[in-house]
Amino acid sequence: MPTHPRLSRRPLLALLGASAVAGCARAENGRLKVVVAGAGIIGAAIGYFLSKNGAKVTIIEKDAPAARATGKSFGWINASWAKQPRHYHSLSQLGVSGWAVLEEELGIPVVHGGSLEWFDGKARMAALTQQIEEQQTWGEPSRMVEQDTIASLVPSLAANGPSSAAFAERDAAVDPVAATRGLLSGAQKFGAEIIENCGLEDVALRGARLRSVITSQGELEADRLVLATGAALDLPATLAGSAVPQEVTPGVIVITKARPMVLRRLLAGPDIYLHQLSDGRIVLGEPARPLPGVLDRAQRFPDDARAEQEAARLLAKAAAILPDLKDAEIADVSIGWRPMPIDGHPVLGPAPLRPDIYLAITHSGVTLAPAIGQLAAYEIIEDRAISRLAPYRPGRAFTAA
Ligand SMILES: Cc1cc2nc3c(=O)[nH]c(=O)nc-3n(C[C@H](O)[C@H](O)[C@H](O)COP(=O)(O)OP(=O)(O)OC[C@H]3O[C@@H](n4cnc5c(N)ncnc54)[C@H](O)[C@@H]3O)c2cc1C
Repeated sequence: MPTHPRLSRRPLLALLGASAVAGCARAENGRLKVVVAGAGIIGAAIGYFLSKNGAKVTIIEKDAPAARATGKSFGWINASWAKQPRHYHSLSQLGVSGWAVLEEELGIPVVHGGSLEWFDGKARMAALTQQIEEQQTWGEPSRMVEQDTIASLVPSLAANGPSSAAFAERDAAVDPVAATRGLLSGAQKFGAEIIENCGLEDVALRGARLRSVITSQGELEADRLVLATGAALDLPATLAGSAVPQEVTPGVIVITKARPMVLRRLLAGPDIYLHQLSDGRIVLGEPARPLPGVLDRAQRFPDDARAEQEAARLLAKAAAILPDLKDAEIADVSIGWRPMPIDGHPVLGPAPLRPDIYLAITHSGVTLAPAIGQLAAYEIIEDRAISRLAPYRPGRAFTAA
């Protein structure tokens, strides 16, 4: 992702000059000036929709775009049974349909084809059947399918595959890094500036209102600040007076070298998830689980041997489902840390004590990015609250899910 060359070379403060912080709100031609902190998929999506809708946007990223959770994400776009209760399911549905729009608008490749999900054990499969029936009453076109249908949907599946599975035909998959780049390029086309290696450090106020944002590269005038900083725990509390309790959990993602196309649908089997990107790479993931010996927030495994061991573990599980993968070569293995508000739901909206600071912190951010991007941009630009975001406000009482 190209950085704005002028801004990356010189401190912003010098560049903007004294007038930059002395102007009044909406100074520049009446355009709202918004700084978005964080260039993961959520900051990129909000930045895209803000700039598309006329705001003057600067996206600052302490590291590089998609350097944290987004770059280590599995990339499943879903409104599955796990999206509970109904309001959250409905927001996820908006995310799923939003990807079809972004695919056309920005040319981001999305692999449609649905997902097949199954578990070990009769009791869990009986519960899944009930969950799918509930989904159907919520307008989700998912259904239980049996062995023959499964075999026709995924001819490459192992002969001893599941006898029954949930088929969610609207589910999709995306490369989260490519998607983030696509959103950022789209934002740049509408005039947004992107500054890498630029950490948000503080805010400066004029009375109770935001005046500017202090960064590691200098000061930026801003009418609004969006905190799309994922699992960075301290920022919402210190800058916005709005703590977001999170249970940040690790996950291993393995990516193979490109292979002939064998998989058109995402598979979520017991303890292993896989899908194939349009360029032929296969992505493997798994449900959240502890990673003994890996330090909290570590971005790397303790050593190469451990990384290889994790890759071999996931590959063996995947090859048991999709025998074609037996000779797959590993291209990458990474650890990601999921931003996860403890009640499992997004945190979206102005901070109660600092309404010029908008919080956008969520799990399932790949699925939700188009919905969050569009709705948050609308709320910020129009200064209006959208009622469907009411369950996700930062001021709610957080109860562990
Ligand atoms: C292993 C794993 C699997 C997942 N699978 C899925 C899935 O299949 N489907 C799905 O929908 N979701 C999935 N998720 C969740 C999804 O990836 C996240 O919800 C999403 O990436 C969050 O995006 P984000 O932009 O909020 O956070 P991030 O991608 O973490 O971005 C936050 C950015 O803020 C930057 N930042 C932090 N502090 C500062 C600062 N002070 N100044 C400037 N920048 C700062 C960081 O460097 C980072 O780039 C998964 C996550 C993981 C880890």
